Amino acid sequence: MSFELPKLDYAFDALEPHIDARTMEIHHDKHHAGYTSKLNDAIKGTDLEGKTIENILINLDMSNMAVRNNGGGFYNHSLFWKVMSPDGGGKPTGALLDAITDAFGSFEAFKSEFSNAAGSRFGSGWAWLCVHNGGKVEVCSTPNQDNPLMPDTGCGGTPILGLDVWEHAYYLNYQNRRPDYVDAFFNVINWEEVSKRYEEGK
Ligand code: MN
Repeated sequence: MSFELPKLDYAFDALEPHIDARTMEIHHDKHHAGYTSKLNDAIKGTDLEGKTIENILINLDMSNMAVRNNGGGFYNHSLFWKVMSPDGGGKPTGALLDAITDAFGSFEAFKSEFSNAAGSRFGSGWAWLCVHNGGKVEVCSTPNQDNPLMPDTGCGGTPILGLDVWEHAYYLNYQNRRPDYVDAFFNVINWEEVSKRYEEGK
């Protein structure tokens, strides 16, 4: 059994003008496909074969760079596609909004902290919103394809929202203007999906 590249729930151009079709196509069909096949190569014939991706990441030997980079890449992008939607944007509601308000003071303050985490990540990486046992939420960021499920990343809990800030995620449309890309991301966040993951992860 091996990992499969998940299909998108929407067309490549569905997130325009916020994220352009060409970027989505290359990002999914080339980058994510590459992480998926390299992950499969890296675990083939090892005791990681047949385990869930969550199990692999939680128990990861961080010196295993092939699984760290490609397992992270596989998981991170699988989450990323799901937390975006052409019908996205706006604000969360219910228990997730309450948790965000408790943690940051307001949705706007959360947006500012998340955007800062995304903007200040030097080089390549991800910004995250994570939920801890009990329902508390936290913003953090990781380098490269690291993920909060992995040991000792400085991020903890279960990621429920992730933003890819590698240049391959935005360069065609935004060039060096990462802050504009981060702003645009807020117009496509699928808060319904993030709320579902919050309920499952808390
Ligand atoms: Mn990416």
